[in-house]
Amino acid sequence: MIIDGKSLAAQIEAETKEQANWLIDRGIRPGLATILVGSDPGSEMYIRIKHSACNRVGIRSENIVLPEDASEEQLIRKIKELNERSDIHGILLQLPLPKALDSRRSMATIDPGKDVDGFHPENMGALLLGTERLVPCTAKGIIYALEQLGVCLEGKEVVIVGHSNVVGKPLAAMMLNRNATVQVCHIFTKDLPAHTKRAEILVVAAGVPSLIKRGMVQEGVYIFDVGISRTGNRTVGDVDFDSIKDLAAGITPVPGGVGPLTVAMLMSQTVQATEIQTRRQ
Ligand code: NAD
Repeated sequence: MIIDGKSLAAQIEAETKEQANWLIDRGIRPGLATILVGSDPGSEMYIRIKHSACNRVGIRSENIVLPEDASEEQLIRKIKELNERSDIHGILLQLPLPKALDSRRSMATIDPGKDVDGFHPENMGALLLGTERLVPCTAKGIIYALEQLGVCLEGKEVVIVGHSNVVGKPLAAMMLNRNATVQVCHIFTKDLPAHTKRAEILVVAAGVPSLIKRGMVQEGVYIFDVGISRTGNRTVGDVDFDSIKDLAAGITPVPGGVGPLTVAMLMSQTVQATEIQTRRQ
């Protein structure tokens, strides 16, 4: 079965729109600010995708563009301004930043209550301790998809390939919070197939096309392919989709799988952040 990220994302967006309308009826319009430093075409495309999702669900959005050579002080000043604004409920700093800027320091400046990407150390720490407040959107999207598929995570063998702060680590924490047995593999893992073959749920976030091939997975596995790479004029994931799809109980395509789920979860978290801030007032 192909796990249709687009239709799951449409479902999340419909729920989010309803919640946004509830707030709008009470005079509160959820607001998201994105910050882009420089003019990387890939980042500009992701920003456009996020803003059009905002439009669809009724979130007011604005994009702040800083020059490629912006200083860390400039960036931090901008984040602090947004932290103070009552019409902005979510702040997203588009990554990667130019090399001269430290993304960790900048991220940590975002008000944790407005950290809709879930990367603030306070939100990450809470996640690790078992309290999921605002969490990384890709991980949340995958958990949502598994819930919709009716897959119970308790005791499941979960293998995650990739141990980044953005995907692998937070997803591992969310899986552990649901009592799965989690194995995290990465570039230094000695025998990757030995691990991936054990997986009942396999999540691959390495950014290496065709890293996972037939023979590396067991029948009946659920596969989430997070990777996004360009080969020629095609966008591909990390999984050799065509050779594996008949073995899997469920598999996400690239494009049209995890990507739309991630964007939809960003919308959902922006509305969630708005609700939390409204309750605080
Ligand atoms: P990253 O570069 O920070 O981390 C890559 C991870 O993969 C590391 O843990 C690394 O050790 C591991 N890895 C690399 N090569 C490997 C190999 N040959 N064998 C085993 N492990 C290997 O990347 P990231 O930010 O986590 O992103 C990973 C991929 O997911 C990228 O293609 C990125 O574009 C994509 N991504 C997609 C979404 C989405 O919404 N679909 C969201 C975030 C990232």
